[in-house]
Amino acid sequence: MKTVVRAPDPVNLPVRDEEGVFPVHRIYCVGRNYAAHVVEMGGDPDRETPFFFQKNPDCLVTNGADFPYPPRTGDVHHEIEMVVALGSGGRDIPVEKALECVYGYAVGLDMTRRDLQAECKKAGRPWEIAKAFEHSAPCSAIFRASAIGHPGKGAVVLTVNGETRQEGDLGQMIWKVPEMIAYLSGLFELRPGDLIMTGTPSGVGPVVRGDRLHARIAGVGELDVKVV
Ligand code: MN
Repeated sequence: MKTVVRAPDPVNLPVRDEEGVFPVHRIYCVGRNYAAHVVEMGGDPDRETPFFFQKNPDCLVTNGADFPYPPRTGDVHHEIEMVVALGSGGRDIPVEKALECVYGYAVGLDMTRRDLQAECKKAGRPWEIAKAFEHSAPCSAIFRASAIGHPGKGAVVLTVNGETRQEGDLGQMIWKVPEMIAYLSGLFELRPGDLIMTGTPSGVGPVVRGDRLHARIAGVGELDVKVV
């Protein structure tokens, strides 16, 4: 079809041990899903439930590419997160059917302009400028659920230049994966190609140019990113 302006490039993630790629539709992100992280951000996990925001598919950084330090910030933070990749979707998906929608899992980073996020929170404004900038979502290849299963437990560890900064466990998630899918599907029609970033454990902190980030989720996979 003839387009009147240049068409956007499709965004795909590689899939481990599979020739085909995973075409990305939307990226949903859950905030405040690990109690210790809620506390470090000044919140109370007993009073605040998790919630969702979005990034755009073209925020993804794939195939081990570098993370360029973004403009208009002096405080970019790392947030290691397990990423859920949906193979099917729908509306009002029951919790007990939700895992049937999952194609696989990946290791991702929800890179965040924390200084801009603090301004947004203070002013009661949306978070896009803090969360949905270009290159804000480095992500590993997808590991098929048919190969790794549905990991409910497993260490979530992020090191910067070899030093451990974030350490948690998938079992600490407040909303588990089936609950996220069920909840989201009540608000949106979920589609094949949707990604869900499932929240970060405690230990978030700033990165600087030259840093080497290594993200590892036991039972899922690994991701290496250099800040340039
Ligand atoms: Mn996050």
